[in-house]
Amino acid sequence: MRIGVPREIKVREYRVGLTPNSVAEFVRHGHEVVVETDAGEGIGFSNDDYIAAGASIMPDAAAVFDAAEMIVKVKEPQPSETAMLKPHHTLYTYLHLAADPVQAEGLRKSGCLSIAYETVTDREGRLPLLTPMSQVAGRMSVSVAAHCLMKAQGGRGTMLGGVPGVLPAKVVIIGGGVAGTHAAEMAIGARADVTVFDRSNRRLAELDEQFSGAVKTAYSTQAALQDAVREADVVIGAVLIPGAAAPKLVTREMLKEMKDGAVLVDIAIDQGGCFETSRATTHDDPTYIIDGVVHYCVANMPGAYARTSTLALNNATLPLGLEIANKGTKRAINENAYLREGLTTADGEVCHQLVADDLGLPC
Ligand code: NAD
Repeated sequence: MRIGVPREIKVREYRVGLTPNSVAEFVRHGHEVVVETDAGEGIGFSNDDYIAAGASIMPDAAAVFDAAEMIVKVKEPQPSETAMLKPHHTLYTYLHLAADPVQAEGLRKSGCLSIAYETVTDREGRLPLLTPMSQVAGRMSVSVAAHCLMKAQGGRGTMLGGVPGVLPAKVVIIGGGVAGTHAAEMAIGARADVTVFDRSNRRLAELDEQFSGAVKTAYSTQAALQDAVREADVVIGAVLIPGAAAPKLVTREMLKEMKDGAVLVDIAIDQGGCFETSRATTHDDPTYIIDGVVHYCVANMPGAYARTSTLALNNATLPLGLEIANKGTKRAINENAYLREGLTTADGEVCHQLVADDLGLPC
């Protein structure tokens, strides 16, 4: 199969669909790979690295789309990219289509077959192609919180770990899944006082065991959250209810009771956010303050660590990408029910039930 890797064109997006090492794997399996010039330049992968891995370099995206049967990307296609998609293309990337009717219509009209990373599942019903980004966002949430706690950032002027003789900061993490667990790990590493809230008793028990009691765990009720948030220096929102918008767990009223200069990091902002006062921000202007509380609500946190994120994403996407290339898309989808969960559009139709329901389209 001929695989195409265009340069990402979303504002400040430096990740890339395939690393040179991943390209080499496709080539080793007998496939051809074409890469747009400078596609990996922003994260230290040069054209020469791709050529050494066996790829051909194309001058622009049009040449890549023209030559390739499967397009491997990171972000959802932008309008100029959607316009280049044809019925013979397989598009393998994040799509987040449910919230984007314009893009859905573009993909439908293109007739391409699209597979969304975020809905591919595994044997345990997890979302393995979303996991690496939750890991990055979870770990990152603690370093941004530490930064926001600085006085100059509008924070309380509290160090996460304190110093000998001074108590550490209180970090409350709401949601103990992938992102929340990785946040907990980093917060403990920084010697903060960490409490994780979840609605799953099984998850709370697993966390208790995993961290040998170094993390406090608490069942997530409104009253318990209210008490913890009032005392917190940092609150990290990392909840997910699959297929639904994030619940608003910290209300405006609760915010009023928080300490001046406390910090909220809303990782769940890509699902609408789990704090009532959250609104999506960007890496260029990541924070704002309401009632003295610093809000950090960047919707594409992993983009800040584009190199680590690309490497982690490739680890997750490569095996299925190879399966598609080796078997051909239709056979791969027919034979692999987990990959099939990612199938989003084909032959001019939206064919993922939840996405179609959200968009009010037939499936
Ligand atoms: P996950 O499914 O692994 O974990 C979510 C956890 O939330 C689960 O353990 C669930 O039991 C818990 N939960 C659900 N309702 C709750 C409630 N009311 N109170 C407490 N806990 C509750 O999900 P994840 O992969 O860790 O993702 C978490 C969020 O981070 C998602 O919204 C995801 O989209 C988002 N995310 C954002 C970025 C970003 O850049 N902003 C990057 C990656 C992931």
